[in-house]
Amino acid sequence: MTFDFVKKLDFSSEFFDLYKLSESAYAAISKENSGMGGNAGFIDIGDYLIMIDTTGNVDAGKDLKKAITIIYDDTFTQQLEQARKSSQEKDVFCLTIYNLIAPRKHYIQNILGYDPGFYSDTLTDEYKSCLTIGVNKLKDTLNIFLNQEQRSIIKNSKEDHRILIGFRWLNYKQSGKGDQQIPYIIKVGKTSSKRYMRASPYHIAELGIICGLYKKTNGLIFIVYPNLNNLIMTYKVDFKRQRELSRIVKKNVDNIENSEKNKDVSLLPLCEKFQCPVYKGESCPLEHECFHS
Ligand code: SF4
Repeated sequence: MTFDFVKKLDFSSEFFDLYKLSESAYAAISKENSGMGGNAGFIDIGDYLIMIDTTGNVDAGKDLKKAITIIYDDTFTQQLEQARKSSQEKDVFCLTIYNLIAPRKHYIQNILGYDPGFYSDTLTDEYKSCLTIGVNKLKDTLNIFLNQEQRSIIKNSKEDHRILIGFRWLNYKQSGKGDQQIPYIIKVGKTSSKRYMRASPYHIAELGIICGLYKKTNGLIFIVYPNLNNLIMTYKVDFKRQRELSRIVKKNVDNIENSEKNKDVSLLPLCEKFQCPVYKGESCPLEHECFHS
């Protein structure tokens, strides 16, 4: 995987090539048939270094150590633990965009106590990180970052504080209309055919929730296609009925809150079909209660 803004470093290892992604981020990308078992990376945050090692290979791990200096910092670890504890306000009801798209899955976790386990697709995460760095560079080059005032106006315009959401915005320049602050999302497309390159219903739902939440009528979707030679596409989506969108978002959050207070799953709409594992022949603790017509 290579993007133009990624610089390959002069580092010798039979297992991986070392890349500099930005001033502080480095990636160790496994060489073909090296047996490394996964990629790795590290982030230099000044006095500390965070290492993400998924190699699963002792010798590759040794090479990785040659590329960095690892310092365990007890004070920083404790401070981080402290900050994490103090931010866990258990009584506050919060949702993510994913919970709104698959509301019954949130119910399964929160009310039925079923833990689906942690899922991470490392390669997808890497592509997303690379594209995020690329978009940030673009914002720098075109000077389309939001300034402090614009950021706080956007933050204060959030309709419903029960939804947790990352802050990804840029100044979109449109001739004759001046700057417009619009949200964007970053995605990885799995298709290997140009015919199927498009924003998926999930991507559009995600952007729609963000637009509904911030009373915006449009946003951008950046997609990288690893199977199409890292092709990057930008889709601009216009939502014509923004008020309706805001109303639906609020209603869905209310529904989830009420159903969980009353422990009544029937108050919730079904998860979107493309999010339902039952359709792929897998099971779900609520499959007998759910029915997609
Ligand atoms: S069966 Fe499908 S719709 Fe029902 S909770 Fe599970 S994933 Fe959602």
